[in-house]
Amino acid sequence: VDQLKPLIVLQKAFGRNCETGRGITELEQTLERMEASVQLAEAMKRMEGLDQEIHDLKAAIRQKYVDVEAAKEREADRQALLEGAGSPRELQALETQLKAAQKYREATESESLELEERLDGLTKQHKALLEQLPRLREAADQERRSAEERLESLCRDRENLLREMETLRAVIAPSVLREFDRLINCRGGMAVVPLVGDSRCGGCGLALPMLVVEEISDNELVQCECCSRFIVREQVFEDSAVSP
Ligand SMILES: [Zn+2]
Repeated sequence: VDQLKPLIVLQKAFGRNCETGRGITELEQTLERMEASVQLAEAMKRMEGLDQEIHDLKAAIRQKYVDVEAAKEREADRQALLEGAGSPRELQALETQLKAAQKYREATESESLELEERLDGLTKQHKALLEQLPRLREAADQERRSAEERLESLCRDRENLLREMETLRAVIAPSVLREFDRLINCRGGMAVVPLVGDSRCGGCGLALPMLVVEEISDNELVQCECCSRFIVREQVFEDSAVSP
């Protein structure tokens, strides 16, 4: 039993170590692309887009002001000419020009108004986004911290497991350990199996000779003739399955 128990516990620790390693890999991958961080990055990008759009819109509105002022001047110019017009034909031509100038000014003013409305809408979006940012940033920080904490805890678990495994290995005979290492790697993490159905190998199902079953009952170190796994009494296997 002195050799059997450490072997079984070592096998258990080996399995947990594999699991922990997988957990660490998964967490490391999760850390690369966390949901809240992705949302924050998207919000920052939207913010940048809005900044640019607002900047362009303001420039367009400034240009519309210039256009409206120029149109007003042209209008006043035509108005003055109209007042000093000589012939009816000249009068008619100037009236037509004045109307066109008015129409252009009105259209430009209405375009300018539309731009200002759009700017208003964008400014509101910008403000709303700005208010959301601290919350998004907080959520992303929290997500990262929590994942990092879980990762740290898993790394600690792994260190403890490795230490535990070293302690167990120290009490197992080198030749047995060599066989165990070979089996755990080529037999799907099961180097030690319980005797099942009173006389069968729990690994490959081989029916064992009476003599071998007796050796197992006496807690001797027995290997299956077929799969080479160490076979132990079911009770010994169950009792040792729970790590101390
Ligand atoms: Zn077997």
